[in-house]
Amino acid sequence: MTERKAQLAANLAKVEERIAAACKAAGREREEVTLIVVTKTYPASDVRILSGLGVRHVAENRDQDAAPKAAECSDLPLSWHFVGQLQTNKVRSVVDYADFVQSVDRSRLVAALSKEAVRAGREVGCLVQVALDAQEGGRGDRGGVGVGGVEELADLVAESPGLRLDGLMTVAPLAGEYAGRQQDAFERLMDLSTVVRRAHPAANMVSAGMSSDLEQAVAAGATHVRVGTAVLGVRTGLR
Ligand SMILES: *Cc1c(COP(=O)(O)O)cnc(C)c1O
Repeated sequence: MTERKAQLAANLAKVEERIAAACKAAGREREEVTLIVVTKTYPASDVRILSGLGVRHVAENRDQDAAPKAAECSDLPLSWHFVGQLQTNKVRSVVDYADFVQSVDRSRLVAALSKEAVRAGREVGCLVQVALDAQEGGRGDRGGVGVGGVEELADLVAESPGLRLDGLMTVAPLAGEYAGRQQDAFERLMDLSTVVRRAHPAANMVSAGMSSDLEQAVAAGATHVRVGTAVLGVRTGLR
């Protein structure tokens, strides 16, 4: 085993232990929570190692990095999640490799995703990104639609050709009323998910929780956690 493989295996085991403990504490089955490893800023060689270690879901937040990485790893049995703020001029590229776009936060983006998914003959799973720190009707600093706009956007995704409404995603806000209150934030996301599922019962993905707050996300009921640092190490730079 290479040194990097041993390191990633050890980190993965620790994260797995944390998820299992959080499930146990919440009275949930381990199978209810899917680990998505966020591989942004790390090379395709790490993605290949992770795949060999049994990881099945990876996430990226920048198309410039993700597109070549996904191409290099196209032989691996991986689902690719796009989790970053997405400009419409990058949609054509993203739709080529992304199985899920978790950062759907405005109608113009839905229209672009739908058009390109149809053109590519693909079905793209979409999660509406909720900004719990957004002002009424606005968008969050790190993307996301404000709480008041979630249902309308979910309906729009559900009726758009080439797109499948899969659920909701959030990033715990650093500012505003939910700052430092991750579990409350994730419980709010669960409440919104309940509302959305009344109209769209299959949209049952709830993506919340990162390296520092995955326990709170599992406690709140998240179905997917997105973990980068705790598996791959601290990233250099601000991303
Ligand atoms: C980077 C990132 C993560 C992972 O964050 P870590 O703190 O490294 O675990 C999760 N979600 C999104 C949207 C991200 O951009």
